[in-house]
Amino acid sequence: MRILDEMASYVSDMRDWRRDIHAHPETAFEERRTSDLVADKLTAFGLDVHKGLGKTGVVGTLRTGPGPAIGLRADMDALFIDERNTFSHVSQNPGRMHACGHDGHTAMLLGAARHLAETRAFRGTVHFIFQPAEENEGGGRLMVEEGLFEKFPMDMVFALHNWPGRRAGSFAVKPGVMMASSDNFEITLTGKGAHGAMPHLGTDPIVAGAAIVGALQTIASRETDPLDSTVVSVTCFNSGETWNAIPAQARLKGTARALSPESRDALEEAIGRIARSVGTAHGVDVDCVYHRLYPPTVNNAEAAAIAARAAARIAGEAGVDLDPRASMGGEDFSFMLQQKTGCYIWLGNGPGTGGCTLHNAHYDFNDDILATGAAYWCALVDEILGGA
Ligand SMILES: [Zn+2]
Ligand SMILES: [Zn+2]
Repeated sequence: MRILDEMASYVSDMRDWRRDIHAHPETAFEERRTSDLVADKLTAFGLDVHKGLGKTGVVGTLRTGPGPAIGLRADMDALFIDERNTFSHVSQNPGRMHACGHDGHTAMLLGAARHLAETRAFRGTVHFIFQPAEENEGGGRLMVEEGLFEKFPMDMVFALHNWPGRRAGSFAVKPGVMMASSDNFEITLTGKGAHGAMPHLGTDPIVAGAAIVGALQTIASRETDPLDSTVVSVTCFNSGETWNAIPAQARLKGTARALSPESRDALEEAIGRIARSVGTAHGVDVDCVYHRLYPPTVNNAEAAAIAARAAARIAGEAGVDLDPRASMGGEDFSFMLQQKTGCYIWLGNGPGTGGCTLHNAHYDFNDDILATGAAYWCALVDEILGGA
């Protein structure tokens, strides 16, 4: 709790940074203002700052002497959502919004960097990783591909995400899978157009598409292990122009989620097989493309135990849920965890009522947890690099 008390004097600055970032949201790989803000602050705190890794990514390094090295990651990007809030720090960029709390993640990691730079009460190296494009575009993957772990060698890497629906200031973490894989698919059906009153003269891609939508739901219920959750959602079905003409084409889009690599492979195989087979049954041609985006986010057991200890120092043992159910959401920190031992933790944001859910146009990060998140980062550094 001592670290949490020390953080109290940083809260007003963190709140100001957070609201400034919230008011100026930038989406994937366009986080130039945010990136400059982060780099300027890290430089002012006395860190070595490296810009441009993963386009708009920033890494700040704080070294106090020989010892292990760890990485702490925050994401900086916003979403393509038109904000519906009316408070003074509402988005100034129409159609863009911090609806996932990445503004809070950035502010908390900046607060931790400032505290650790002032106190320097650890032995070793901390890399503060500010990544772009967590939403959809894989900024974390790009940073890894551009040599994050070669340019900034580290033994472990950690990340944090705010979580509406969990008590404000509480934590949740466990070994193993925390978040699902997140993949997209697109199915194009090509039949033959005809008069709407003479369907026998054409081949209807809408009826075939509707059959595919239904059949895809048998994957989760009949093909994958019910104890190893999967989701297949068709989220887009476009076809036709008017009342009395059967169109020649239909296009479906959707998302597929799995908690294990085996189920992920099964989803890819089954979606293609079912789409083509049902299409054949209806006499239409089917083209199915499956895009692998984010793998499951899987925590290392040792790193999860360290993260749980650090969280308990801030929130107490009762404030750390050690057996949360995984989320079917995706997270591109998964690419860092594929390469490096590490752990991803949830920080409760408070009740998920009203518009207070992630990706909602009324969402706002809870400033009351800024100190808790920053203190967690400092406790984590102390757990691994403490004893100065
Ligand atoms: Zn998000
Ligand atoms: Zn997010």
